[in-house]
Amino acid sequence: MNHYLSAGEKKSWKLIQDKIKEKVTPQQFTTWFSGLNLITLDTNIIYIHTPNSFCREWIENNYMDIITSSLEEASISNRKVLFFDNDKDTSKTESCDQSSSTASPSTENHVHINKNYNFDNFLVGPCNRLAHAAALAVSESPGTAYNPLFIHGPVGLGKTHLLHAIFLHLQKKKHKTLYLPCESFVNHYISTIKTGDWDSFRNKYRNIDVLLIDDVHFLANSQSTREEFFHTFNALYTRQKQIVLSSDCPPEEIPTIEERLISRFRWGLITQVDLPGFETNVAIIQKKTALMNMEISYDVACYLADNVVSSIREIEGILTNIQRYATMNKSKIDLNLVKQIINGFSKQKRDIGIEKILNTVTKHYGVQLSQLHSKRKFKSITLPRQIAMHLARKFTNLSLGEIGGYMGGRDHTTVMHADDKIKKLKSLDRNISSALRKLENTLIKQQ
Ligand code: ADP
Ligand code: MG
Repeated sequence: MNHYLSAGEKKSWKLIQDKIKEKVTPQQFTTWFSGLNLITLDTNIIYIHTPNSFCREWIENNYMDIITSSLEEASISNRKVLFFDNDKDTSKTESCDQSSSTASPSTENHVHINKNYNFDNFLVGPCNRLAHAAALAVSESPGTAYNPLFIHGPVGLGKTHLLHAIFLHLQKKKHKTLYLPCESFVNHYISTIKTGDWDSFRNKYRNIDVLLIDDVHFLANSQSTREEFFHTFNALYTRQKQIVLSSDCPPEEIPTIEERLISRFRWGLITQVDLPGFETNVAIIQKKTALMNMEISYDVACYLADNVVSSIREIEGILTNIQRYATMNKSKIDLNLVKQIINGFSKQKRDIGIEKILNTVTKHYGVQLSQLHSKRKFKSITLPRQIAMHLARKFTNLSLGEIGGYMGGRDHTTVMHADDKIKKLKSLDRNISSALRKLENTLIKQQ
C-alpha cells in the first residue's frame, strides 16, 4: 500500500516507525506495528490501516500514548489519528435486514450475520452451558421455550455468537427472524421521528416470528426509544413471538431503565455467560487453532489458557497475531515464542494504573482519597479501600508492598488480606459482585 504515498509521507512514516521502535520490544513491534500501513498523512488527520479489527482495537486501547508521543517526536503533532481495518468480510456474512427494500436509507444499517457464529462452532463449558442450552431450546421451539431469553455478561464471551446462531438456525427453518444490534433499533427509531413513517417501523419489528436484539443496554441512552421498545415487546409477546436479548449487565443494572421493562425481561429466562475457566479455555484454544489450521502443542494451549483470561475474543486476537508473527518470521509456534509474545502483551494490557483505580473507586463510593489512606475502620471506608486494593492486584503490575504504599502506607499482608476478602465476597454478596462489575467495566473502558 505504501507505494501510493508521496516521498514526504514515506519519509515521515519511516520516522514515526523508528520512534515507535524505540519504545516497544522487537516482538511488540513485529506483532502490532509492522503490519500497519500509512494511508494518508493529512494536515488534520492521519489514516492508518491495520491488518485486522483486533489489532486496531489493541493499538487503540494500549498503544495510543506511544503513537502520540512518536508522532510528536517526528514533529507531526496536533493531528487526529484514525485507524481502520477491512474485517467486515462479506464472504462470511450475510445480510439479515428483511425489510431492506422498505427501509429508509438512513435506517439501512447493514446488519450482518457471521455464518461462523453457529452452534457447531460454539464451545460449551460451565461458563456458558445454561445460556447455550437456552439458546438451543429457543431455536427448537421459538415462542414457547423461554420468552424472553435474556443473555448477559461482559464483552467478548459469546453473546453475539449465540444470537447469530439462533438466527442461522431459525432462518433455515423459515421462521421470520430479525437480528439487529440495539443501536440500529435506536437509530431507526430516531430517523423515523424525522420521516414519520411509523407503519414501516412497526411493520419491521412486529410482523415477525423472532426478534433478536443485541446489546440491549444501549437502550439506557434514550427514554423515548425504551417506550417504543416496550410496545414492540408487548406486541410480540402477546402473540407468543420469541424475543431474545443480550446485554453487558443484568436487566436491573441497565442505567435509567424502568421497572416495567425489567419486570418484562424477568418473565422469561435471564442467564449469564461468564469467563471460561482453565479447561474451557484450553478447549476453546484447541478448537480455534484447528479452525485456523494452526498447529500448537497442548503445552502451548495450556500456557495461553492460563495467561489470556479476559475474554474469548482476546484469545482469538492473540492467536491470530501469534500466527501472523510465526508466518512472517517462518518460526515454529513453540512455548518459548508464545511466552515472549504473551509477556509483552499482558504487561501492556494489565497496567491500568493505580491512579485511575483510586479515582474510579473513590468516585463510585463517594469517598475521599484521604479517607482511603486513613486508619479509620468504618465499613463505608474499609470496603472501598479493600476493593481498591483488590483492583490494584488485578489490574496493575505493582507488588503487594507498592500497592500498600499507595493505600496510605499499609503493609503487604494487609493488601493480600484485602484482595482475598474481596475475592471471597464477590461470590457471596450480590451487591459487591455488581459493584465490581461496574468498576471493572469503567476501568477497562478507560484503558
Ligand atoms: P460478545 O457478544 O459477548 O461480546 P462475541 O459473541 O462477539 O462476544 O464473541 C467474541 C468472539 O469469541 C467471537 O469471535 C466468538 O465466535 C468467540 N466466542 C465466544 N464464545 C465462544 C465459545 N463458547 N466458543 C467458541 N467461540 C466463542
Ligand atoms: Mg456482542
